[in-house]
Amino acid sequence: MNIHEYQAKELLRGYGVPVAKGVPLTSADEAEAAARQLPGPLYVVKSQIHAGGRGKGKFKELGPDAKGGVRLAKTVEEVVSNVKEMLGNTLVTKQTSEAGKQVNRLYIEDGADIDRELYLSILVDRTVGRIAFVASTEGGMDIEQVAHDTPEKIVTVPVDPSTGLGDAELKQLIEAYKLDGAAAEDAKSLFPALYKAFTEKDMSLLEVNPLIVMTDGHLRVLDAKVSFDNNAMFRHPELAELRDVTEEDEKEIEASKYDLAYVALDGNIGCMVNGAGLAMATMDIIKLYGAEPANFLDVGGGASKEKVTAAFKIITADPAVKGILVNIFGGIMKCDVIAEGVIAAVKEVGLKVPLVVRLEGTNVDLGKKILRESGLDVVPADDLDDAAQKIVAAVKGN
Ligand code: ADP
Ligand code: MG
Repeated sequence: MNIHEYQAKELLRGYGVPVAKGVPLTSADEAEAAARQLPGPLYVVKSQIHAGGRGKGKFKELGPDAKGGVRLAKTVEEVVSNVKEMLGNTLVTKQTSEAGKQVNRLYIEDGADIDRELYLSILVDRTVGRIAFVASTEGGMDIEQVAHDTPEKIVTVPVDPSTGLGDAELKQLIEAYKLDGAAAEDAKSLFPALYKAFTEKDMSLLEVNPLIVMTDGHLRVLDAKVSFDNNAMFRHPELAELRDVTEEDEKEIEASKYDLAYVALDGNIGCMVNGAGLAMATMDIIKLYGAEPANFLDVGGGASKEKVTAAFKIITADPAVKGILVNIFGGIMKCDVIAEGVIAAVKEVGLKVPLVVRLEGTNVDLGKKILRESGLDVVPADDLDDAAQKIVAAVKGN
């Protein structure tokens, strides 16, 4: 689960992390009062969407010459005019799709006098099996670009879970950032506080880009992106209220209600598969034959007819889907249950695109029989290769 920047900052503030004063708003009427709560003379108006790259992003409605999704303002009046211009419009950034995201909330923040912009993230580093700090002096920009062009400017500092962030790691980080004076002192409390927040709240990512050294020599967290580990959400009922479902994919929300492992993708072949491994293989082979999957979907081992029906409905409701491939290996899952689920879904929502079905395993003959006798226009396939070729040919219209 991801949260907005303003929520992440509020959470971090509770851990004693230095963040700027700020006020979130959802209507232009609130803009003046929000700005008046801040000291000035510099204000920043920040779009709150679940995507980075907002500063360099473009509003669809405003044309290419308009300013981006993070704007500086020097007066309260400028704050108000920027809020009016930005709110409700669609921001396209490097991290959104081309469709962009509607900006329904802005964060008015106290402007900082920046001396240097640094990059910091804390993540679960699977190569070392530990939580690690990733540090770079090249903050404020695209870290993927830095990793590509100048990988030596990125320093990874893994943390031993039994001791936590110790003096040795702190020293490494302070050196990596070339911090001294007040900033080095701040670091000694800031980095452990971030680590504490990360572990206590079961985060999977905490990215601060930029972490800044201000002209007064102190450190401040200027941007914050937080993702929580979904598997640990049951331990944090307090975090549930931070969820903003308007930022999530509707199909993924629907899938989560049925406990389906579903991820929306950009292609046009809808896939209904059981088992993550088979789902991955199915996506690979679709790509091999020159098409793109519209989703990853694992209906799971022992899915019920209701679950299969829900899954099939989510796939057919996606207007991008031009063909569906059902690829099931019935181990614990039974092929007849799949067949019944598919038929139940089609009865409710219809079937407007080609459907290729490859069934194998438990009750396969019964499953095939049910589909055959249903009168549905199903293209049967013998194996995965055959199935992939048939569905790709079908969506390409040959
Ligand atoms: P994004 O990463 O989505 O573009 P950021 O929060 O990192 O958004 O903001 C982009 C840039 O705007 C920062 O790198 C920084 O230069 C500037 N900026 C953001 N917040 C402030 C602030 N409170 N005061 C001064 N400058 C800011
Ligand atoms: Mg940023």
